[in-house]
Amino acid sequence: MEKRAVTMDKLVALCKARGIIFPGSEIYGGMGNTWDYGPVGVEIKNNLKRAWWKRFVQESDNSYGVDAAILMNSRVWDASGHTTSFSDPKMDCKECKSRHRADTLIEGHSKGKVNPDTMTNEEMEAYIEEHKVACPICGKHNWTNIRTFNLMFETSRGVTDESQNKIYLRPETAQGEFVNFLNVQRTTRAKVPFGIAQIGKAFRNEITPGNFIFRTIEFEQMEHQWFCKQGTDEEFYKEFKEKAWQFLLDLGFKKEHLRFKDHDKLAHYAKEACDIQYDFPMGWSELNGIHNRTDYDLSRHQEFSGKTLTYIDPMNGERYIPYVIEYSIGADRLMLATLSEAYDEETLEGGDVRNVLRFHPAIAAYKAAVLPLQKNLSEKAKEVLQKLKKRFPVIYDEAGSIGKRYRRQDEIGTPFCLTIDFDTLEDGTVTLRDRDSMEQIRLTPEEAIKFIEEKIAF
Ligand code: ATP
Repeated sequence: MEKRAVTMDKLVALCKARGIIFPGSEIYGGMGNTWDYGPVGVEIKNNLKRAWWKRFVQESDNSYGVDAAILMNSRVWDASGHTTSFSDPKMDCKECKSRHRADTLIEGHSKGKVNPDTMTNEEMEAYIEEHKVACPICGKHNWTNIRTFNLMFETSRGVTDESQNKIYLRPETAQGEFVNFLNVQRTTRAKVPFGIAQIGKAFRNEITPGNFIFRTIEFEQMEHQWFCKQGTDEEFYKEFKEKAWQFLLDLGFKKEHLRFKDHDKLAHYAKEACDIQYDFPMGWSELNGIHNRTDYDLSRHQEFSGKTLTYIDPMNGERYIPYVIEYSIGADRLMLATLSEAYDEETLEGGDVRNVLRFHPAIAAYKAAVLPLQKNLSEKAKEVLQKLKKRFPVIYDEAGSIGKRYRRQDEIGTPFCLTIDFDTLEDGTVTLRDRDSMEQIRLTPEEAIKFIEEKIAF
C-alpha cells in the first residue's frame, strides 16, 4: 500500500509556519473551529475558486454566476425546510460535559462499518448503549439521550430582538440561486437546460471533531445548480458526476485517492445523491456532493412566495417547473484536500529532507520566485521581478543561502525559482529551477515568462 507522508499535524504546522492558514483569533486563545487564511493561503484558495469558476461558469455553454446576499428573508428557510429539519443528533457526555454527534460516535466506534445515516434517533441510542460506545474525550460511557439542535446561526434584524425580526446566516448558498432562478433566466434569456453558480460563505453551528479546516462553522461553498426538464435529469446527474470527478483529476488528484459514495438515505428532496470522497489524512470523507433535487426547491419557493416560478419553453409554449441537479463543493474542504494531495517529503542526496507542495502551478500562490544569488545582484533581480510581476504573481527573496530560499519556496509550492547570478549581468539569462524535478535551465526573462505562462494555464 502507498505510504503517504502527509499527516494532519504536519499540515497544520506547515500552514501556520508558512502563512497559509492560522488559527482564528489566535492572540485571544483562538475560537474553536475558525481559521484565518494568511498571505499565501488566501492566494491558493482564490486560485482554487478561480479554477472552479472558469470550469463551471466561463467554460460552460449555458451557466451564469450570481453573488446573492448572505442574509435572506426568513421565509426562504421555511420553504427550504431548514427551519424545521436542519439539525444534527447530539448527545452530551454526563461525565466530562463534552458534546458529540451520535452519528459520528457510531461511525468512529464501528470504524465506518455501520452507516448511521439510515438509523432513527432511537436506533442510534440503542446502538450506543448496546456497544457501550465511550466518550472520545474522557473514555467513559454515560450519555444523555439524543437531542436535536438546529444548525443555523440566528441573529436579529433591527434594534429589537422580537421573534418576527429573527433572521439567519445562510447555511448553504444554494437558496440564493433558486430564488434568482427567474431573474437570471429572464435577463440572460437562457433556455432550459441552464445553470446558475455561486461562490460564497455559509455558516453552520456544527460540533466538529477538529479536523483542521475540514468542518468549520464558517466556510465557503462553490455551488452549481443545473435547471433541466424532468426526464433529462438522470442523464445530467451522470454528466455532473463525471464533470466533478474530472475537475479533481485536472487539479492533479490521483484517482486512487478519490471514490464515489452513493447516499444510502436520501434527503427529503433528493431523487439520487452521491458524494465524491477523498482519502484525507484522517480517512475517507466527503469532498463534494452531487444531488438530483427534483423540482422540490422551485416548487417550494413558488408555494411559499406565491410567485409563479414556472419556465415557459419558447419553442412550444410548454410550462413546467425545472428539475435541479446540484453540484456542491466546499472551497475550504477542497483547500484541505489539495494541500493533503500536494504534500510530499523528499529525501535528497546527502540525507536532507525537503518538504514540498506539489500542486498544479495554476493553484500555487506565487508562480515564480525571483532570487538574486547575492545581495549585490538585487538591482538586476528587481528589474526581472518588475517584468514578471505584470504577468503573474511573483515573490522576491534575498535573505539566506540559496538552498534555504529554494526550500522556503518548495514548502509553499512555488513551481519555479528564477536565480539571478553573475552570468545574468553578462548575457541577460537567468536560471529557472523546477520545483518538482529540481532541474535547472537557462532562459532570458522573456522566455521564462512564456514558459511559465504555458505551465500555469488551467
Ligand atoms: P457533511 O455530511 O460533511 O456535513 P453535507 O452533506 O451536509 O456535509 P452539503 O450540505 O451537501 O454537505 O454541503 C456541500 C459541501 O459543502 C460539502 O460537500 C462540503 O465540501 C462543504 N461543507 C459542508 N459543511 C461544511 C463545513 N461545516 N465546513 C466546511 N465545508 C463544509
